[in-house]
Amino acid sequence: PSPLAYERLSAATWLLVVCFAFGRDPSPRKINLGVGAYRDDDGAPYVLPSVREAEARVTARALNMEYLPVAGHAGFLSKAMDLAYGEGAVPEGLASVQTLSGTGACRLAGDLLARFAGGDKAADGADGRPLVLLPNPSWANHAAIFRDAGCAVGTYTYYEPSTKSLNLEGMLRDLRDAPRGATVLLHACAHNPTGVDPDAEAWGEISAAVADAGLHPLFDMAYQGFTSGDPAVDAAAVRRFVADGHAVVLAQSFSKNFGLYGHRVGALSVMTGDAAAAAAVSSQLCILGRPSYSNPPLHGVRLVDEVLGDAALAAQWREEVAGMATRIAGMRTALVAALADAGSTADWRHVTDQNGMFCYSGMSADTVARLAAEWSVYLTSNGRISMAGVTSKNVGYLAEAMHAVTK
Ligand code: PLP
Repeated sequence: PSPLAYERLSAATWLLVVCFAFGRDPSPRKINLGVGAYRDDDGAPYVLPSVREAEARVTARALNMEYLPVAGHAGFLSKAMDLAYGEGAVPEGLASVQTLSGTGACRLAGDLLARFAGGDKAADGADGRPLVLLPNPSWANHAAIFRDAGCAVGTYTYYEPSTKSLNLEGMLRDLRDAPRGATVLLHACAHNPTGVDPDAEAWGEISAAVADAGLHPLFDMAYQGFTSGDPAVDAAAVRRFVADGHAVVLAQSFSKNFGLYGHRVGALSVMTGDAAAAAAVSSQLCILGRPSYSNPPLHGVRLVDEVLGDAALAAQWREEVAGMATRIAGMRTALVAALADAGSTADWRHVTDQNGMFCYSGMSADTVARLAAEWSVYLTSNGRISMAGVTSKNVGYLAEAMHAVTK
């Protein structure tokens, strides 16, 4: 399509176009920087050695393959909660269920809201649907997930294109102006697509604004470990909100930090305050899950349970997560250096300032279209580069291409 047609495509549709066009491109130098999945330094999918080891152990046990309960695998769930909230710090009265990865966790949260939070006049989206506020921009799938669940979707200010960083003032203003009782979705770390996260001080202000405005925080934590390399550090925002007394709802994904993309491993947890309310919410989550998918998948959660249940294997996994984060951070530095070598005088500091898997490059849809047409470099039309697809072998070529289309 022409550059104009590119602009009309949503980011989600664009990702399909990227994959299709990339597959058909005969260029030996082509690079796919559209997909949000980790790649090793040869550009190949990466199975974490700790997960491989866990799989060998699980397979050797020749376990049965019966259905899981609707709520999921109890051992996995308890370890997932420890990972998110901290061992010994899991809140009392927490309802948790296994979900079809992070997407399924967000959807189940949306289903729960649509069933129980609708009709609250203060918080609804004008027609009785509960209002979910997303950062602008957010992961392309968020709006569709919550709309399809029956929620109304709004946005709050997040990213400031002119500074390529967080517009904290705008964010706080929008949160304070939001209808009381609305749900505010927050990316716990490694914001997708911008790579821009609030710092600890900003999280404190956001927590206060959410409390003052009477909003319900819903955290989406899809990249725990990808910002700092340490999953505990990356959970700081969630833990801060818990400490500040919020009733946190948390969607967790194990796609990226365990490399279990296709196995659909996730969890949804809801802080309720006491055991009776937690049992009631768990039961309602199961009632929502049952007609949707009956029960969640088995294999991936066994692997996470095995990794996190063995101190040595868990330590190895932490090193592997740090390794992924470090490789990506190294590619940010390498890209900025290669852009300078290619002759670019533009300011690319945001490439290294941003966190996690993505770099919001600031390149326009036209520029992205030229990158694809002239250089066989494919990204989403919003200029988001999946840094996980950058390698020591292709970073020079990528820089040459980026410089050629931005000079
Ligand atoms: N949330 C965010 C912000 C994401 O970027 C993604 C995946 O890209 C997800 C949730 C869900 O991923 P999955 O369903 O594979 O866990």
